[in-house]
Amino acid sequence: MQDPNLRTKRDYLARMDERQLACRFRHSFPPLLGDKLPKGFDVAPMRAGVMLVTETCPVCTTQIIYETAPGGHLDYDVRTRTLRYVYPEWWIHVPRKDGVTVTMADARAVLWEGQIKLIKAAARKHGSVAA
Ligand SMILES: [Zn+2]
Repeated sequence: MQDPNLRTKRDYLARMDERQLACRFRHSFPPLLGDKLPKGFDVAPMRAGVMLVTETCPVCTTQIIYETAPGGHLDYDVRTRTLRYVYPEWWIHVPRKDGVTVTMADARAVLWEGQIKLIKAAARKHGSVAA
């Protein structure tokens, strides 16, 4: 049940956990590199050589779940692959019917403002810059 006090973009942004803000429309699923599967990449056998793959975002713990073709082959086009997302309990969903849109840029702006002291301090470490 969605909180009835969530009405505007500002309401949603104020309530979202920073992990959700960081992952808004772009999770950090680890790439497949090297000679072992990354942490959070789990595979379970199903029927006829089909495998069920679960990838877990290390930032927010959202999972994407999908099946391979027999033999582990995969449809690499995410537009045609059937993906299921499983969000953490604390995730705040923004219902489209309310006409509120929270973009990645909105989320990044909130994170940036929250981190501005750290960002400025990092810039100061570099000293002054000639214009
Ligand atoms: Zn995430």
